[in-house]
Amino acid sequence: MLNIVIFGPPGSGKGTQSENLIKKYNLAHISTGDLLRKEISTNTQLGALAKSHMDKGELVPDDVIIGMIDSYLDRMGNVNGVIFDGFPRTVAQAQALKELLASYKTSVAVCLNLEVPNDELMTRLIERGKTSGRSDDNEETIKARLDVYDKQTKPVLDFYKKEGVAVNIKGVGSIDAIFADIADAVDSKNK
Ligand code: ADP
Repeated sequence: MLNIVIFGPPGSGKGTQSENLIKKYNLAHISTGDLLRKEISTNTQLGALAKSHMDKGELVPDDVIIGMIDSYLDRMGNVNGVIFDGFPRTVAQAQALKELLASYKTSVAVCLNLEVPNDELMTRLIERGKTSGRSDDNEETIKARLDVYDKQTKPVLDFYKKEGVAVNIKGVGSIDAIFADIADAVDSKNK
């Protein structure tokens, strides 16, 4: 299986580049942010809990997220591989993913680290907020999310560096040029 973690701060282009990866490699896609927003829009208990964290720019608790991934993998069926988008966001989540995938006799093939400077992220996210309808795309919450990324999520990169699967990708430039670098990185890890 070709399992890819698409990694990077909010606004780094994970969702956009996931779409490109799905088309080129015919992979399944799981975005924990999208799953959580679906729970919110259908007014579930999990959605209410998630919203209370998301609206402050905080992470949703690990056990909730890991449970979601577990049941997703359980129902996934026969696929070429999975793109994990917005997950893992803590080292505990990365460790849990490693164990879950091991139970399917597979692992993360590559962690693509999209690098974008903070001022560019801020501009992109405020711009997205004008049309996204997302309640967490306002200046105050964006700042909190970038801070949470630095403190809680960045250490995940060291986890994947130690696993020998992390690749840095410059996340500024045209979408196509960035994807060309991504495809090169995936192909070199997928031999
Ligand atoms: P972005 O990448 O723009 O921050 P996401 O849709 O990935 O957007 O995430 C939105 C929010 O959903 C996060 O700020 C967080 O509150 C919650 N969330 C998403 N994925 C996770 C995760 N793996 N662990 C904890 N919280 C998460």
